[in-house]
Amino acid sequence: MRRVPTATGLAATNLGNTLTDERHPAVVSLDCAAPSLSHANAAPSMPKFKPFPRLLVVAGLLLPGALWAAKPDPELLNAIRDQGFNHSQVMQTLQHLTDRIGPRLTNSPQMREANRWTLAQLKAWGLSDAHLEAYEFGRGWTYDKASIDLLSPRKTSLMAIPLAWTPATPGPLEADVIYLDAMTTAELQTYRGRLKDKVVMLDEPTDSEEPHREISKRYSAAELAEMKNFDLKAPASDAPPPQDAIAQRRKANAFNEARMAFLKEEKVRGALFRSSWDGGLIRVMGQNHRVGKTFPVPALMLGVEHYNLLARMLERGETPHIAFNVDARFHDDDVNAHNTIAEIPGTGDKPEIVMLGAHLDSWHGATGGVDNAAGVAITMEAIRILKAIGLQPRRTIRIGLWTGEEQGLLGSAAYVEQHFASRPKPSDPQERAQPRWMWSSPGWPITRLPAHELLSVYFNVDNGSGKLRGIATQGNTAARASFAEWFGQVSDLSEGVISNNAKSSTDHVSFDLVGLPGFQFIQDPLDYNTRLHHTHVDSYDHAVPEDMKQAAVVLATLVYNAAIADARLPRKPMPAEPSADEKAQAKQKADKRQRTKERKALSELTTGG
Ligand SMILES: [Zn+2]
Repeated sequence: MRRVPTATGLAATNLGNTLTDERHPAVVSLDCAAPSLSHANAAPSMPKFKPFPRLLVVAGLLLPGALWAAKPDPELLNAIRDQGFNHSQVMQTLQHLTDRIGPRLTNSPQMREANRWTLAQLKAWGLSDAHLEAYEFGRGWTYDKASIDLLSPRKTSLMAIPLAWTPATPGPLEADVIYLDAMTTAELQTYRGRLKDKVVMLDEPTDSEEPHREISKRYSAAELAEMKNFDLKAPASDAPPPQDAIAQRRKANAFNEARMAFLKEEKVRGALFRSSWDGGLIRVMGQNHRVGKTFPVPALMLGVEHYNLLARMLERGETPHIAFNVDARFHDDDVNAHNTIAEIPGTGDKPEIVMLGAHLDSWHGATGGVDNAAGVAITMEAIRILKAIGLQPRRTIRIGLWTGEEQGLLGSAAYVEQHFASRPKPSDPQERAQPRWMWSSPGWPITRLPAHELLSVYFNVDNGSGKLRGIATQGNTAARASFAEWFGQVSDLSEGVISNNAKSSTDHVSFDLVGLPGFQFIQDPLDYNTRLHHTHVDSYDHAVPEDMKQAAVVLATLVYNAAIADARLPRKPMPAEPSADEKAQAKQKADKRQRTKERKALSELTTGG
């Protein structure tokens, strides 16, 4: 799961051959496949035929509805459980990805190895059309080792990990530390001439708080019950981010770029950042990965306690003197990143598609155990199970293992753009160069490719390694009945809670934003939000094998049902450009929020807070 909730970041790709107009597509749904196909060959049962619920509209002709057998085969459901519980490979997959391959930062050699290995593994399980799909990403980066030691006023080793896409030191260096306390370009100027050969602390030191969070969490019955109630205040899943938030981020981004230029001009030796979680956890992500945009000096993320130690020394008027060394490198041989794709082909002439997926990339500070080798292992296991039981589904079952998720859902967005639908990029080249979540509009109109009509559903797994307790419909209440029925087949494994609110921040959003049914599960968080998310301890150790098996069996059951169902999963209306009136109202609200913030700051000035 990535950190910015509203980011989407569609990668640039060339599209030919498109269908336009989201409300009046030139091609109407071909929600069909040849009726003579059996949904399974492992344990054939007497099919119950019932009338196909929808009429087919092809080139203006009304054809009679096809007949379809869509009842799940109870023996196949048994076979799914037998494979998933008694012949599971989910932990072996997780272990290979984490212990053997290691961190999988997009475009690093280890990420490429993860692409190669997942491809080979899916092929070995007998899946069809296994291949890698490329999209333009940017630079690769890895680090082999890094160290930082305090030399005076006293000696101690400090814990730190370099930020991704920051340069190496030329060798071991020594430097004095200074706190660069600036939030505007004018404040930066007050440091002119004072930073040469120094290491700058760029984050504000924190005051420690009394620990109050339980480390590991499973949802209680009461919490699950609450999720069934629709939150009327929550925005629609495809609502554009509020303009005041975009303005705020653009301002921060512009300042960050100015600060980077300043550090370079002032010949700073290195930069220190503070982890956002304490307790020794180093929560480390990266700086910009785009060619020409990477951070100018070596940069390390320090644990809170060590960062604050340096800050308190400075407050007392002491100058910390440190030694540091970063052995890191960029990989510029190929700016393309890849997604791993494979499938169990559906039967018939242009079968519809059911997709499942997870992001294969991770941050570099650990081995990306629950973010998100766990999701990869669960989705790979689900499709392995379905292949192993000999399923011949009506719809194609396709797995997508995405990269670039942590940098803005880039891999899944590129896949959606190349296969299903795209949205225009800003015409202003400066705005276009920024991540999508800083654009002033998500891009209208949505241009659909023919396969947009073929995708029934996309299931995503990326909220840690905890059990699947239910699913969020993203506001697609029409999907409830199917989900309730399918979860009912595994009611001894999962409560199957259905929330009509939306989940954000991961790859199903790439599908949702172009009007495709993409979903993320409700999972027990365990210690995802307290110890693991983007920290240096996100390893194999924290995945619970029983939870992983449960998730694979539940997911395989849902995918199986979706792949044999009578009809494609119902959809929400296509996202539509807000009317002039709606835009004006949204702007008014954003302006009001902005003025409230400024007024509050003003009143704090005059009243002392
Ligand atoms: Zn993440």
